[in-house]
Amino acid sequence: MRCENCPTEYVYVLEREGVGVGTSVYLLNEDGAESHAMSAAEDTLRQALENDFDPVPCPRCGNYQKFMFPKLMEDRSAWGAAARVAAMLIGALAIVIGAYWTRIYVIRPTDGAFWRMIAAWATVAAAGLVSIALAAARGAWERRFDPNDGDPEARIAEGRRRAVTRAEFDAGQRPGPLGVSPGEQVQRDDRFT
Ligand SMILES: [Zn+2]
Repeated sequence: MRCENCPTEYVYVLEREGVGVGTSVYLLNEDGAESHAMSAAEDTLRQALENDFDPVPCPRCGNYQKFMFPKLMEDRSAWGAAARVAAMLIGALAIVIGAYWTRIYVIRPTDGAFWRMIAAWATVAAAGLVSIALAAARGAWERRFDPNDGDPEARIAEGRRRAVTRAEFDAGQRPGPLGVSPGEQVQRDDRFT
């Protein structure tokens, strides 16, 4: 991986688990099922390793590369996403309750039904406003989002924890974080279930 901010190339280990499922019929084909599960897991793993990445900053300058931003956003906006889902669920539930009490009120207009109806529709409106506010906040946050803002020390530490520079990797001087020597096949964590 080449840093966009400094002339450093760096290397990190991407760890993923491959899960394969094999079925055997009446124990006749146990070996076959097992090897099927193995190759399915290996395929899944190979695809994950080819197409996936982790957001790992440059171990020299702490810069997160542009293509990593979406994953960083996802990681750091889990609460916002949960709040949006919660607002939508509350709104949907309030619509059902509002429709119910509106029906009751139309059939038999009582004070109790009237105020329950009003409360339910007010909740729908509030949930809608909260959803709009959350979406606006999310948009503003995304436009401002820059994981490379601020003190780079913590990011450099994170980078050095996860990665080594290309030069170090080639020299084999810091095999620690990678746990493998240059040229060795990096494919770990095969787990079969
Ligand atoms: Zn860099």
